[in-house]
Amino acid sequence: VQAPCPTPSGEALQLEGISHQFDTVTAADDINLSVEPEELLCLLGPSGCGKTTLLRFAAGLERPQAGRVRIGNTLMSDASDSTWTPPEQRQVGLVFQDAVLFPHLSVLDNVGFGLPRMSAREREQRSRALLAQLGLAPFAESFPHVLSGGQQQRVALARALAPSPRIMLLDEPFSGLDARLRDRIRDDTLHLLKRNGTATLLVTHDPEEALFMADRIAVMRDGRIVQQGTPTEIYCNPQDPFVVRFFGDVNEVRGVVTDGQVATPLGPVDAGHLAEGTNAQVLIRPEALSVEKRSGPMDHSHSHVLMSRLLGGASFIHLCVHQGNDEFHMHAHMPGVFLPQRDEPIDIHLDPSQTFVFAA
Ligand code: ATP
Repeated sequence: VQAPCPTPSGEALQLEGISHQFDTVTAADDINLSVEPEELLCLLGPSGCGKTTLLRFAAGLERPQAGRVRIGNTLMSDASDSTWTPPEQRQVGLVFQDAVLFPHLSVLDNVGFGLPRMSAREREQRSRALLAQLGLAPFAESFPHVLSGGQQQRVALARALAPSPRIMLLDEPFSGLDARLRDRIRDDTLHLLKRNGTATLLVTHDPEEALFMADRIAVMRDGRIVQQGTPTEIYCNPQDPFVVRFFGDVNEVRGVVTDGQVATPLGPVDAGHLAEGTNAQVLIRPEALSVEKRSGPMDHSHSHVLMSRLLGGASFIHLCVHQGNDEFHMHAHMPGVFLPQRDEPIDIHLDPSQTFVFAA
């Protein structure tokens, strides 16, 4: 398979100062975002935050009211003048949630559809090579209706990639697939994109998908980018409570910063970055709690188990933590199979690296 179109220099995609309002909804509010050559950037956020709208601006399916779009350093649109390149001239590969294939064309011809300038022989070679990379070689002569949803989505991916686009724009391409198939197709897709060195913007609302697929994640909320960074930066150093909550279940405690700490039912937590007297919120991931069956004598301040359940690779434990006369319910995740009985007394240790303190 030939190499993708070389990006002249700089970013594969650059969105500069993009703003857009639909009636009362701000879909984009001064967005600045770039995708580097060969990079996979995930736009991650809840439904309605503006992810698809940004992707449509990049593809040229919609015109932003303000800002500029560049692809491979070429200006594609500028809202301040009449610069506008239509979608078919942008050299982007598009894949949406539902694969839309031509029903009257074979799988091979579907993939070769975007290669009119190649000779028939070159077109067939490139299409077959891409189909082989996606494990679809045996289906080259089949028609789309005999393929499963996952296979159709792979054909759509191969078709978008065939003309060596400057950037792939993928909008929730895996969300219509069942969980096991989805994992497999994510893996295959990532492998294919990396092997071809294709810059990609992937839109998803699924944090696990973003962690798995992305070189870099941009977390969006209400038309704004809340934080950008590598998956490790976003997960381990979240800059906003929204980012912590978006990645899953979290225990929340409130308190006032006193002597650089906030008191929690599990002991004091460092809050040195906040001013004394600040009302603080402490967000504790379930995996920050390490639970042990209690070895020492029982006392009035012990914690106990309310329920435990197996999640698969980890166990979920619903805890009751006592502090004076107060009770706090918390969730813990422990690796492997750890299923203490209801009412069992336990000790809890808190891992500060999975505990985040913000001003309330
Ligand atoms: P989802 O994951 O549900 O697709 P999203 O993050 O991709 O959500 P968008 O589809 O970009 O969000 O929509 C952002 C906001 O803009 C939403 O409130 C949506 O209702 C609104 N919106 C999008 N397109 C239009 C349109 N053509 N006319 C009016 N409002 C629109």
